This record gives sequence, structure tokens and C-alpha cells, in this order.
Amino acid sequence: MQTYPAGLPGVGQVHDLHIWSTSTTENVLTAHLVLPGGHPGDAFLMHTADELHERFGIGHSTVQIETSKESACRLAPVRFQHFGRRL
Ligand SMILES: [Zn+2]
Repeated sequence: MQTYPAGLPGVGQVHDLHIWSTSTTENVLTAHLVLPGGHPGDAFLMHTADELHERFGIGHSTVQIETSKESACRLAPVRFQHFGRRL
């Protein structure tokens, strides 16, 4: 499961990936995907949500798109964070 979003076209890095159950039948996922090539558009989001549902039984997914590993996302691994100088 952890490798699925990282293998999607254009995805350079995944962080803050969480999966949990809200009931015996409802699974929820949130993740941040870094796509250096830019935002892939709604079709990518719909396709990803469909795949997560069909392949992994995740009925509710929320994906945040980031376009740069140099962003200041506080949830990114430290080595990807940018604090005014390159780490
Ligand atoms: Zn992030």
C-alpha cells in the first residue's frame, strides 16, 4: 500500500500518509503527494480515488498535491524541508 501512491505517474515523493478505519467497513486515507511537474488536474485525483477504492477498499481519500520538494510543508521529511538554506 505504501508504494502505491509513490508509483503513480509524476509522483516524486509521498509524505504524511495515514490510513485508518472509521468503522468495520469504512477506510480513510490522507496523503501528501509531491509532483514536481505541476498539478496533474482533477482526472488524476479521480483516478487515484477510484484505484484506492477498488484495489485497497479505501472509500474516503484526501490527497494534497505539492509541486516542490523545496516547499515548507511542515509534515515533509526533514531532508525535504526548506529553511532558507539547502539541507
Ligand atoms: Zn506536505
